[in-house]
Amino acid sequence: MIEATSQKQCFFCTSNVKHIDYKNADALRHYLNPQAKIIPRKKSGCCAKHQRKLTEAIRRARIMGLLPFVPE
Ligand SMILES: [Zn+2]
Repeated sequence: MIEATSQKQCFFCTSNVKHIDYKNADALRHYLNPQAKIIPRKKSGCCAKHQRKLTEAIRRARIMGLLPFVPE
């Protein structure tokens, strides 16, 4: 039985992703809104574990210059 709170399955869980690579900027870009902000868990549908890893990967990608801090 699926929890009533989870609207959809976490993408990273379904694809069995254990580590989110910050170098995969194209994939991470999907989790940024037009304001270059990380979209919240409610919208992304990620579980807490992967949302945390995602945030970390995006932060790292920004430092490496792969993702923007501000809208392009
Ligand atoms: Zn997950």
